[in-house]
Amino acid sequence: MFNTGKELLELTKQFNCNISDILIKKEFEVFELSEEEVLNKTRVIYEIMKTSAQSAISNPDLYKGHIIGGDAKKMSIYASKGNSYCGETLNLAMARAFSTSEVNASMGLICAAPTAGASGILPAAIITGSEKIDADENSILRALLTSAAIGELITKNATVSGAEGGCQAETGTAAAMAAAALVELKGGTPEEALNASSIALKNVLGLVCDPIAGLVESPCAKRNAAGVANAMVSADMSLAGVKSIIPFDEMVETMLRVGRSLPFALKETALGGIAITPTAKKLEKKIFLKE
Ligand code: SF4
Repeated sequence: MFNTGKELLELTKQFNCNISDILIKKEFEVFELSEEEVLNKTRVIYEIMKTSAQSAISNPDLYKGHIIGGDAKKMSIYASKGNSYCGETLNLAMARAFSTSEVNASMGLICAAPTAGASGILPAAIITGSEKIDADENSILRALLTSAAIGELITKNATVSGAEGGCQAETGTAAAMAAAALVELKGGTPEEALNASSIALKNVLGLVCDPIAGLVESPCAKRNAAGVANAMVSADMSLAGVKSIIPFDEMVETMLRVGRSLPFALKETALGGIAITPTAKKLEKKIFLKE
């Protein structure tokens, strides 16, 4: 139905609807699913997201990886004190992003959106954003469909793999998906949704993938916490009327071009960046000797 952001916007104009409505039409065309069936399937995903975003806050001892664990709980306690720089909403969103990352690091159930490494961003943004504006479930599920449209466009036209495009492709895409979802959730236009995605992508353009010991734990979890902040500030910028100078499709093409120009050492090989610092190498040795 659509291969570019421009085509997606044209469809929303043609049918005078939101991005999520186009996704529902597409699911009918491709899989003959009714709107109710699409929303029911999306609800299953949302339930997984809600659980992963809370589990490591409630039970930090159950969700430890080789390197990370406990940060979701720390962030949520800090959020509740009410004296942070970023405010309770963003701190709580960061706690939730940490939670999903910690669940992932301990091989728990997460929804890879778009990947396991970046799986903390979208749930944290959607859950926290919907709480903030008291959104109903139908709007939340539709916002998730909007995020899926952005993920589909980036997958088709660039990459969502850290091994191919660096962390900009993983946590950048997740933030772009979440930013568009937050815009639609708050009643923004399809143009504003794509604009928010463009801003989110440019905010982390060139971000490398350099996981310590090759494990999807560190710096991944912190990039998820920062990624949900990226999604929220990008959505707010767009809803305030701030325009991305570079349109969505060009940002996606740019992300792919930058990803291709990154050296092999910075694309999930653990041969560069943070992964080869003395501290990281010491940790790597400790982890693999233990095993
Ligand atoms: S650093 Fe690499 S493995 Fe970790 S989240 Fe980013 S892209 Fe994924």
